[in-house]
Amino acid sequence: MPVPVEAGGLWSGVAASARPLCETYRSLAGGDASVALVSSMHPAVIAFWLASPDPSQPEWERQRSALFASALAGEQWGTITSEPGSGGDLFKTRATAAPLDGESFLPGRAYAVTGDKHFGSGMGVTDRMITTAVAEGDDAPSIFVLDVSGRPWDGSAGLQLTAEWDGSGMAATQSHAMRLEGIPSVRMAWGGKIEAITRAAGPLVATLFTSVVLGVLDEAVGVARDQIRNRAAQLRPFEQVEWARAEQDHWLAVQAYEGALRAMESGEAALHAALRAKESTADLAEQTLLRLTRVLGGGTFSRRSPFAHWFEDVRALGFLRPPWGLAYDQLFTTSLE
Ligand SMILES: Cc1cc2nc3c(=O)[nH]c(=O)nc-3n(C[C@H](O)[C@H](O)[C@H](O)COP(=O)(O)OP(=O)(O)OC[C@H]3O[C@@H](n4cnc5c(N)ncnc54)[C@H](O)[C@@H]3O)c2cc1C
Repeated sequence: MPVPVEAGGLWSGVAASARPLCETYRSLAGGDASVALVSSMHPAVIAFWLASPDPSQPEWERQRSALFASALAGEQWGTITSEPGSGGDLFKTRATAAPLDGESFLPGRAYAVTGDKHFGSGMGVTDRMITTAVAEGDDAPSIFVLDVSGRPWDGSAGLQLTAEWDGSGMAATQSHAMRLEGIPSVRMAWGGKIEAITRAAGPLVATLFTSVVLGVLDEAVGVARDQIRNRAAQLRPFEQVEWARAEQDHWLAVQAYEGALRAMESGEAALHAALRAKESTADLAEQTLLRLTRVLGGGTFSRRSPFAHWFEDVRALGFLRPPWGLAYDQLFTTSLE
């Protein structure tokens, strides 16, 4: 879906293709939140190459074509960009990249990347992952593609598992922490500042993550409604109000998400709308799950209840890129543009 039509895929631009893409992840998340989140990283990463075509940069265009061919061939893309202590800010990376000689797995300059990373959702199922590092001689970070397919995690080939993922939500995402130790990688061939790329892709990336959590919320509200319908006559006034408010919050989250999609469809600069939708949905999803569990009772605390993991799954949205603090920095600046 994120491969352009001219390269053999279904993507015909953000205005036409963002909605069906996001709706797919929304549906998938109703079935399995972790599978949906890991899968959503694939278009979220490819979005960096999708959003900024530039025929005046032949190296960039060559790399874009190769990347789309890789996705079309079924290779799964992901990201292990986050670093402990960076607050999710790509530009606060402490990782480094040293040039390497020779050909690589993707058109572009080859490097060896070294640094500590965490939250690599999809480790073990992804073939390619992106990360950030500062290349030798540079004063600002660049984006690098890592070849992680089949690579061992014991430090023998540039990848050392430092902390196995044990998330109480999004439990099956395998978002492990890794030490990169000279791992072979290819530098993004974009000739300008990476802010231009991250900004262009930002609305789609934020809305993809919103769609995943909204899908969890849709399912949780649907399951709760079926349970509540069976005992509607016994609900106390407090429980009736909590249910009504949960439904209201869910409805508001849907409107926020629709607002982000409409902003992308209208062709306007959609970053502010997408961030507002992401942060609103993150708040509303947490509130909704809290209210649902109050109505449905203490049984929702049991690991056997899907509400126990949905409660934690929806909390991921606020931490996903851009995480809370950074999102509010960006909301403030984009509100005044
Ligand atoms: C379920 C899940 C899946 C994820 N999947 C991925 C993924 O696939 N790939 C990926 O790259 N990331 C992923 N992330 C990580 C996410 O994008 C954020 O980078 C991460 O949540 C930020 O972690 P933190 O808030 O603990 O930040 P930390 O960097 O550990 O910072 C901790 C706290 O200190 C503050 N802080 C620390 N240092 C600074 C600083 N220098 N400037 C500003 N504030 C600072 C932060 O605001 C934060 O509140 C995932 C996160 C979750 C929860």
